[in-house]
Amino acid sequence: MTARILYGKEFAAKIREEARREAERLRRETGVTPGLAVVIAGHDPASEVYVRNKHKACDELGLFSLAVELPETATREELLAKIDDLNHDERIHGILVQLPLPKALAAAESEVLFRIDPAKDVDGFHPVNVGRLSIGEAALVPCTPAGCVRMLELAGIPIDGARAVVIGRSNIVGKPMMNLLLQRSATVTVCHSHTKDLAAITREADILVAAVGRPGFVTADMVKPGATVIDVGINRVAPKKLVGDVDFEAVSEVAGAITPVPGGVGLLTIAMLMQNTVTAAKLQMTK
Ligand code: NDP
Repeated sequence: MTARILYGKEFAAKIREEARREAERLRRETGVTPGLAVVIAGHDPASEVYVRNKHKACDELGLFSLAVELPETATREELLAKIDDLNHDERIHGILVQLPLPKALAAAESEVLFRIDPAKDVDGFHPVNVGRLSIGEAALVPCTPAGCVRMLELAGIPIDGARAVVIGRSNIVGKPMMNLLLQRSATVTVCHSHTKDLAAITREADILVAAVGRPGFVTADMVKPGATVIDVGINRVAPKKLVGDVDFEAVSEVAGAITPVPGGVGLLTIAMLMQNTVTAAKLQMTK
């Protein structure tokens, strides 16, 4: 079998188009343009590229975007004060703090993220949003898992009643992915580094999500024929070479559908950030 390849570009374009249309409707009906603030402290080159891409995406969709740049030497108090300003800024509906923070601020990461007004928390990391997701209330959901699930829906891959296995239990990928799949009535198993006989569990999956951070971790013998395999992993194996967590060549001979790396899930994350910014604006308008 040769798997259907789920290219992120195709689905990201659809998600962006949905966000653009919703933003346009909101503007027409309320006069409000959804706005995103991206806060970056220091000069990490990779982070600067990510931030530029986020502003570019906002421009393309007609969203307002604000770059908030703090020096490497910014203090915890300065960063928290900036978040407070943005929480009160009516132009801003979504706030994102680019991670990682500079070393001197790393210990304050949770405090900084939890200072963001939950209604503006477009990364979905605030405990209020985590809680709302887990009890099935309207919530802002972390962009990567939200993008993966939207892609499954757009691709017409059934989730209701499917056996889903998620490898990885992080707060930004594994756990929200579990909740999103459960909400859509999949039967979900979450695996991690203490899981025994992992391959026996993954071989039962109709939908297998790998969020481990180890190149080539999922091999063909771990995959049920015809399964959908979502590879969230991003692993740099050489200066210019990225690979996922799945042995793409071998697994694509067994799976029914598979996401490539690069060119798969990674492209969905910014698209979903745009969608989350529009959703945040809509939720704030209806309050
Ligand atoms: P974490 O390191 O936070 O979590 C990795 C998870 O994998 C942990 O739960 C860990 O288990 C589990 N794990 C590690 N080794 C094994 C093993 N041998 N068997 C089973 N489970 C194992 O990573 P993240 O969730 O943040 O990210 C995962 C990957 O996704 C990374 O490659 C990251 O770069 C990528 N990523 C991609 C994004 C995108 O936009 N496409 C966005 C976010 C992440 P335990 O909890 O027991 O330690």
